[in-house]
Amino acid sequence: MSCLFCRIVAGELPCRKVWENEHVLAFHDIRPAAPVHVLVVPKRHVESVWELDDRALAGELLLAAAEVARVLRLDAGFRLIANTRHDGGQEVGHLHLHVVGGKRLGPMLPR
Ligand code: AMP
Ligand code: ZN
Repeated sequence: MSCLFCRIVAGELPCRKVWENEHVLAFHDIRPAAPVHVLVVPKRHVESVWELDDRALAGELLLAAAEVARVLRLDAGFRLIANTRHDGGQEVGHLHLHVVGGKRLGPMLPR
């Protein structure tokens, strides 16, 4: 299995787990861009938002991100990011939501 996040889901590679259920795993990003930076990934391999066609799984991902925010007490706010494909800057080809927070974030995109 060559997909990095599939290997993390399978337990072949370590992660700092934050939360999981049957469908979704959430773990700390290895190179945090903010005080809180967690990745929420489907346990089943889906390449990106572009390929996502499972409505139930889409809901699971969003609700998992909300659960992560509550577990990490991000009540002041946070940001969800889904880098998608080449122009979106996606580096890992397994769908993931970034949950970023723990400080007042700057503008959504650098101008
Ligand atoms: P993206 O550019 O949206 O594909 O983001 C991929 C993210 O995965 C980056 O923020 C990386 O720091 C993160 N990442 C890469 N390898 C690992 C890993 N082994 N464990 C946790 N996060 C990782
Ligand atoms: Zn995968």
